[in-house]
Amino acid sequence: MRIVLVGPPGAGKGTQAEFIAEHLSIPKISTGDIFRKNVSQGTPLGAEAKKYMDAGDLVPDEVTIAMVKDRISEPDAVGGYLLDGFPRNVAQAKVLDAMLEEIGHCLDMVMELVVDDEEVVRRLAGRRTCRDCGQIWHIVFDPPADPEHCDRCSGALFQRDDDKEATIRHRLEVYNEQTAPIVDYYADRSMLVGVDATGPVENVTGRAIAALRRMES
Ligand code: ADP
Ligand code: ADP
Repeated sequence: MRIVLVGPPGAGKGTQAEFIAEHLSIPKISTGDIFRKNVSQGTPLGAEAKKYMDAGDLVPDEVTIAMVKDRISEPDAVGGYLLDGFPRNVAQAKVLDAMLEEIGHCLDMVMELVVDDEEVVRRLAGRRTCRDCGQIWHIVFDPPADPEHCDRCSGALFQRDDDKEATIRHRLEVYNEQTAPIVDYYADRSMLVGVDATGPVENVTGRAIAALRRMES
């Protein structure tokens, strides 16, 4: 199954992608995670991406698309994948459609996590991420026992550079201007399913899995 998860920064895409990918036994492919890994490893791709990420802007399409093309061609992605954070504008959505068409596939579903701006700011302001395993925490909504370390692997937790208030606001503008149009793009193609992303994580997961079951039946 090939699924796209879309929603504003902080909607809970990374959190839900983990559960949905596990439920469907497909890899989760997060462009943000891949960029951050390249930044921490000091690769040329990371150096290029960092300039844009720190400002809360999108990394240029040619860089992002080439990276996604490579990743979805890897053996573990042959049977499907869950894309978290890609596509992020209509140009990327069109290229993804064309890439899939070339190999005789299409997306099965685009799931939109729906949540308002106020909640997004609350979620992003308290987000913490594990440097070692990538697990996502929240200082209020999902706090680890030790605020500095990951419950899962004991790795050090950090606050993303782009989760500062001014950058959060800019990322929301970028979402509304550049990413929100893909919601209409997929709705026009009858591929879009909206999922209410408010309330506890497990309730959102339940709604997401119910939406997948409805599609399969
Ligand atoms: P969030 O979790 O806040 O939605 P991500 O982790 O998905 O953010 O992405 C972090 C940053 O990585 C983005 O602000 C952007 O700079 C870059 N990025 C991620 N995916 C893409 C993409 N598909 N196109 C361009 N830039 C991207
Ligand atoms: P995205 O990938 O869309 O940017 P994340 O999955 O990283 O979003 O979630 C952003 C923050 O919100 C994290 O700190 C996460 O722990 C928290 N979070 C995710 N889902 C919920 C929820 N349903 N209720 C409260 N907090 C949540």
